[in-house]
Amino acid sequence: MPKNVVEMEIDEVTMELPDTKTLRLKWPEGYETDFKTGQFITVYWPDTPKYKRAYSLSSCALDTGFFEVTIKRDGKMGTRIVDWAEKGNKLFVIPPVGRFLPVLEPEKHLVCIAGGSGVTPFRGFAREATLRKLETKITILYSVRTTEDIIFNDEFRELEQKNPHFKFNVTCTRLSDSDPWPGRRGRIGADWVKEQISNINDTIFYACGPNALVDNAERLVLEELQCPKEQLKLEKWG
Ligand SMILES: Cc1cc2nc3c(=O)[nH]c(=O)nc-3n(C[C@H](O)[C@H](O)[C@H](O)COP(=O)(O)OP(=O)(O)OC[C@H]3O[C@@H](n4cnc5c(N)ncnc54)[C@H](O)[C@@H]3O)c2cc1C
Repeated sequence: MPKNVVEMEIDEVTMELPDTKTLRLKWPEGYETDFKTGQFITVYWPDTPKYKRAYSLSSCALDTGFFEVTIKRDGKMGTRIVDWAEKGNKLFVIPPVGRFLPVLEPEKHLVCIAGGSGVTPFRGFAREATLRKLETKITILYSVRTTEDIIFNDEFRELEQKNPHFKFNVTCTRLSDSDPWPGRRGRIGADWVKEQISNINDTIFYACGPNALVDNAERLVLEELQCPKEQLKLEKWG
């Protein structure tokens, strides 16, 4: 086993949705780590050490003593975790790495584009900015099929109450016409993104999740908004 891999106990599990579970992985006694909000850990089960998968931290760097990851039932690892992982189980954890980091400067506006489970790292962004009472503007633009598919809805609404610089904006793509949802419908398009921006030079775009969503966000930002690629950060899950 490489030196930096640590066995961690699952301290708490939370079903966010019927197909989405958050694991809280407790740091062992004396564990020290220097990590940043927006990074990901890699995990594997003790009985299948060759099968490793990456998960974005849904907790933030101010949350110490544990890592949280939020996982959708998808594929082999996603299904095993959502259907079988329980409190007291142990997973091996490769410490956080990654460059999908929030630029938490006061004059910046972080526009975070997500679909489905791709919203996970943005919970960390919003938590850190709120806990630190930062002036950085953060706007999440979140696409889900229906109102039943919104992950962290309650927590994001609470963060909006606490943090005047944070907005959680949802669009639903597959609601029936009779659904009473008063919010936005349809996919994330250039017009909706433009509505959020007051000064494009101070805006940094983030997109996270499955390849198709991230590729679409990349095209939208670079081609339709004509934004330089230095102002765009992407986290592709494959
Ligand atoms: C940096 C990073 C961060 C990530 N963060 C998260 C996160 O926060 N939350 C999260 O849920 N995931 C995240 N992922 C994705 C995660 O790592 C796994 O890829 C995911 O859980 C799927 O598990 P798997 O790879 O074992 O799936 P696999 O079994 O390898 O399947 C991969 C894909 O192929 C599909 N597939 C498999 N078999 C078939 C078949 N027979 N027919 C059709 N389709 C099939 C699966 O549905 C799945 O979409 C992240 C990935 C990266 C790279």
